[in-house]
Amino acid sequence: MKDNVLRYRPEQKDRLIQCVAANGMVRIAFIDGTNLVREAKKLLKLSRVATAALGRQLMMTAIMSADLKGEHDLVSTILKGDGPAGSMICTGNSRLEVKGSVTNPDVELPVNERGKLDVGGFVGHSGKLSVVSDLGLKEPYVGLSNIVSGEIAIDFANYYAASLQRPALVYLGVRVRSETGDVRAAVGVFAEPLPGCPDEVIDRIQAKSEQIAQFSERLDAGETPEELLESAFGEFNLVYAGEREPLYRCDCSRERIERALISTGAGELHDIIEEDHGAEVTCRFCDKIYTFTEEDLRALLEAAQPREDEDE
Ligand SMILES: [Zn+2]
Repeated sequence: MKDNVLRYRPEQKDRLIQCVAANGMVRIAFIDGTNLVREAKKLLKLSRVATAALGRQLMMTAIMSADLKGEHDLVSTILKGDGPAGSMICTGNSRLEVKGSVTNPDVELPVNERGKLDVGGFVGHSGKLSVVSDLGLKEPYVGLSNIVSGEIAIDFANYYAASLQRPALVYLGVRVRSETGDVRAAVGVFAEPLPGCPDEVIDRIQAKSEQIAQFSERLDAGETPEELLESAFGEFNLVYAGEREPLYRCDCSRERIERALISTGAGELHDIIEEDHGAEVTCRFCDKIYTFTEEDLRALLEAAQPREDEDE
């Protein structure tokens, strides 16, 4: 049966599966993010290495978004490394819609000494990882840690350990067809022991990391998420807690871009009108282009003018 499995799965939906294991002592999230990584690659015209890098970060952001409760809650992850990627930002909401952006999406790098896409070289081996949780409170919560490798999964595991004192196992893998750059499979796994979990269970979970590192390859070869989860965590008495569909979705709109232009201020808008007589604004998350004529900009300038009863 295995030789006839469909290796390229365009018709399958992405899945984010949540489980608990070891009598509720460990929670596990599994994401098949193949479609959302494909969508990001297509919209943002990502190079192979950028597809792998942003794809990994998008899946982690989706996993974190699954914990959001409020309708307007957002979580953003920002990687600012010293590599050629520039900065990478991903944002997710409680509906599991994620979007991402990278400063230099077209940079391509030679594969590393292990023959893999050089995500660490692309992101950089040092820098900062920050996580901004906007939960509708007065101030967003910002967690910060160092980039320790640039391979992203390790950096997020370090974030949980260093910033939150929580020893999490993180795997993020994107398989890219080397000839065409097409995304074959994208998988993420997040396993976190809950307070009171015995050290012995934590050690046994951590010992699964080598096996889990094969997951994107195995999904690509036709194994299902359930089979993969069972193979790694079945011995911990896995209980399924729910499943949702993550999506790549940008929520930009002309109104939003207008508001951003107005917020640049009357002086800036005036200069754009005088020098360029119009503007093209490209959304960094979906590459959509919004065109503004000189007339459009004059209307925005009107809105940006300080009102008469206000001081200059
Ligand atoms: Zn957009």
